[in-house]
Amino acid sequence: MQEPIYLDNHATTQVDERVIKKMLPYFNDHYGNPSGINSIYGQNALSAVKKSRETIAKILGCKKENEIIFTSGATESNNLSIIGLFKKLSTTKGKHIISTQIEHPSVLNPLNYLQKSENAEISLISVDKRGTINLKELESAIRKDTILISVMFANNEIGTLQPIKKIGEIAKNNNIIFHTDAAQAVGHCEIDVYKMNIDLLSLSGHKFYGPKGIGALFIRSFSPRVAIEPIFYGGEQERNLRSGTLNVPGIVGLAEALKISIKEHKAENKKNYNITNIIMKKLKKEFPDIKFNGNLDNKLAHNLNITIHGVEAKALIHLLKDKLSFSDSSACSTINVKPSHVLKAIGLSDEETFQTIRLGVGRFINKTDAEKISYELILGIKYIKENITFF
Ligand code: PMP
Repeated sequence: MQEPIYLDNHATTQVDERVIKKMLPYFNDHYGNPSGINSIYGQNALSAVKKSRETIAKILGCKKENEIIFTSGATESNNLSIIGLFKKLSTTKGKHIISTQIEHPSVLNPLNYLQKSENAEISLISVDKRGTINLKELESAIRKDTILISVMFANNEIGTLQPIKKIGEIAKNNNIIFHTDAAQAVGHCEIDVYKMNIDLLSLSGHKFYGPKGIGALFIRSFSPRVAIEPIFYGGEQERNLRSGTLNVPGIVGLAEALKISIKEHKAENKKNYNITNIIMKKLKKEFPDIKFNGNLDNKLAHNLNITIHGVEAKALIHLLKDKLSFSDSSACSTINVKPSHVLKAIGLSDEETFQTIRLGVGRFINKTDAEKISYELILGIKYIKENITFF
């Protein structure tokens, strides 16, 4: 039996063979601990880490390679940014943080924690129907004691891209640190941390064809020099901000995945844009009341978020599971059968949120697949509309 076509690339991506090839020697040849630099094994590992750090720093527009700290992924980078900065500034500057209603739980939950346990004051600004924040609302939320603005680069459900450079400018003009969760954007979008006025940026390897369990945090060192506190303690690796033995194969894989993605992302985005357009057109023709969510003029090229009236998303996913693999909201929240907070924030009713699917087409999907995807979706939607009644 043929495998179903994988359309869940926002949840995670397949590791690119080229990345695996680069990683393999670091499992059983150069397996030393990069902190143990007295041995040739340690030196080899350290040299690979150094090279990887340089590669990532250069691609993101950093000024120094040690502005990159390796972590286990974007969840950790987000926690380290938010809680680490709060620990540094809450007693001297203030306890107010601004973020948005559509952030990933790895931003919203540390904010909840700080609010409940550390008396932080959190303002979550709204988004419009397409998922874009309002810069005026952001500016008017700023207070004297605001220490951090945290706005995601690209949304993991609807793909909307935020005006990151302008948000950075507002933060800079008001002397506030700007963090962006760029888990869905790195490897897919042009990013220059200095030109975009970003102070802290979280990224994750498995969102751009690299391995899971490895990520990084950019921490700006110049104008301003951003200082944060660690959130756990140990052997003081990574400038004492992230203790723990470094995941050398993961780090090598992360750098290689980013190198490949940056080289290929323009062509890949063009191909993915064409594919999502084909699917959109075919679905719209068949079902005129279908709704495509997100900012269609400014979103991730590989994202499609679709509300299909009268069709329960879970029923469609189940019906098509042998042909297509996709999800109904973000994979990270599938254990909660609550309506998606992102879809609610852009104005969908509870009922509509349960009639919404997310497709994330990827590097390994081609135009022929686009025809097959559209065909299967149309068949499935028709079947459910004609045969299943919900009470
Ligand atoms: N932020 C966003 C926007 C995400 O999509 C994800 C992954 N679903 C994360 C953070 C968490 O990333 P990780 O899996 O690397 O912890």
